[in-house]
Amino acid sequence: MIYADNAATTRMSEHALQVYIESANQHWGNPSSLHLTGQTAKAAMEDARARIATLLHCDPREVYFTSGGSESDNQAIRTAVMSGLKKGKNHVVSTKFEHHAILHTLTQLEKEQGIRVTLLDVHEDGLIRPEELREAITEETALVSIMYANNEIGTIQPIHEIGKICREKKVLFHTDAVQAAGILDVDFARDDIDMLSLSAHKFHGPKGVGALLIRRGVVPYTLINGGAQERGKRAGTENVPGILAMAAALEDAVRDREAKTAHLLPLRDRLIDQLTKIPHSALNGDREHRLPGNVNLCFEGIEGESLLLLLDANGIEASSGSACTSGSLDPSHVLLAIGRPHEVAHGSLRLSLSGENTAEDVEKICEILPQVVEYLRSISPVWKDLESGKAEHRL
Ligand SMILES: *Cc1c(COP(=O)(O)O)cnc(C)c1O
Repeated sequence: MIYADNAATTRMSEHALQVYIESANQHWGNPSSLHLTGQTAKAAMEDARARIATLLHCDPREVYFTSGGSESDNQAIRTAVMSGLKKGKNHVVSTKFEHHAILHTLTQLEKEQGIRVTLLDVHEDGLIRPEELREAITEETALVSIMYANNEIGTIQPIHEIGKICREKKVLFHTDAVQAAGILDVDFARDDIDMLSLSAHKFHGPKGVGALLIRRGVVPYTLINGGAQERGKRAGTENVPGILAMAAALEDAVRDREAKTAHLLPLRDRLIDQLTKIPHSALNGDREHRLPGNVNLCFEGIEGESLLLLLDANGIEASSGSACTSGSLDPSHVLLAIGRPHEVAHGSLRLSLSGENTAEDVEKICEILPQVVEYLRSISPVWKDLESGKAEHRL
């Protein structure tokens, strides 16, 4: 099997798994307990917090552990919106291609709190334009939330520039860095970021654990009420083994980041070069400003789900749109945001590589995929119409 769905989740590394098992064994105490067993767990967790802070360039007091990316995104949005509302600010700027953890939270707050949301265009290249962000910010803006790198098309936003604009305009800046942490050079301090979401299972750590970085001076909104864990801002007995395994996975990822990028770039580029040779296909998102392991393509005249099933039968595991939207007939909101027509967006494929993928994997994909596309087109009524001129080619 070739696993090419690392944007959905990654396999836990051997190291993270070992740390997890050892920690579950040794640090089983409740970090809130005052006895030695509890305090042993607490000390291990605080050590992990300090190491994560060093890796991301923030203060340990700015690290809040959560259950993952979705929770961090929810807490970040509510933190800025609730504190904004107290100051009479009811406007949020985000983008059309955020993760649903952001978009659905914003929709809920529109209904619940009457906030106003501006979603920036991401243009054909999958990138926002900083000058459009500048124009969208008003006196009422409480928050700008723009993802670091997109989970579907892998495009990387100009985070440094965005941070500067937000700082200059005195608006809180949150970034969903779930696809970026451990893969790109994420720096909380350098890029003027006020809040940042990350999730361990996207960088070979365990599922169900993540963090939200919140700049000191910003008062976190409490999403989960209960005990006084996480400085009273996130209740629940801490997932100590998960947190330790996350720290280990992030340390490995940051240490090996440049070597992994150098390994991935030629693999990604080979896939893009070979697969865009398929007639009536196109790469989604900018070729340069994209994650080193992300390839996302549209093929006219075929349907993403069928493509996935046939690839799976041929030993290639990939994804179409995002894992959350598959199963529904709606095409990906990300592909629509970059201007792909509905019928084209339906025929999309995401291949997301990790350091574990090899050149042989890539060659096998390059061999099998064109055959599968050709076969699906040969039985597709949509393709027949396109070929006969009854319908017009869009790619
Ligand atoms: C995976 C992902 C999330 C959700 O993270 P979970 O830990 O699975 O809740 C949020 N944002 C982006 C960009 C993601 O890729």
